[in-house]
Parts: sequence; structure tokens; C-alpha cells
Amino acid sequence: MATPCKVTGCKNETPPALAELQVCVLHFTLSIEGSCAEMRRETALGNAPHERQREIMRFITESGERLARVATSGLHLTDDLKARILSTFLTLMNLRENLDRANMRSSFGRTGQHR
Ligand SMILES: [Zn+2]
Repeated sequence: MATPCKVTGCKNETPPALAELQVCVLHFTLSIEGSCAEMRRETALGNAPHERQREIMRFITESGERLARVATSGLHLTDDLKARILSTFLTLMNLRENLDRANMRSSFGRTGQHR
């Protein structure tokens, strides 16, 4: 029996790759996008604690892996959903890049000028 998506009002089914989270593909990508936007704000200033940065890194790899599994598990995805999955990958990659950049800036700031 298929598990429905846990988001209120959503009639989509949960694919096996997301059974643990009980969300459909659409809501999975939306939740990643939402978390990424939040983490991006958090890390933009480059002063997120080290432990938190590690957590964010972990979130990026775990979400990316799970998303890749969903995308390649043979589900019949609409073109719309495929495009959404790709743009979510891009969001994850950009967040990772932002994190690295913010890190670089803050360590330059701490250690003084590099000339
Ligand atoms: Zn849903």
C-alpha cells in the first residue's frame, strides 16, 4: 500500500526512496529549498559556529544523496518535477559554494591581510 505525503492537503504518494520522510518528491524538493534559503542567510555573514557549519555540510551531502536516489530510482517523473530536482541540486551546490566562500572571508578577517 502506498504511503501518502504527510503534507496537509497533498494527494501525492511517497516514493519508496522517501518512505522514511513520508513526503512526495515535490514536497521533498520544497523542503530542501526552504532549508537552504534559511541556511544561506545563516551563513552569509560568515559567523556561523563551526559545529553548525558541519551540520549544514552534512545536510547538503545527505539531501544531495537522497535526491539523487529519488531521481534515479525509476519513478515516472514529470518534466516539471525533473526540472525541479535539477534546480534543487543547483541550490545545494550553491549553498555549499557560499559556505566555502563565507568561510574564506571570515578566516581572512581573523588572520589579517593576506598580501
Ligand atoms: Zn506532497
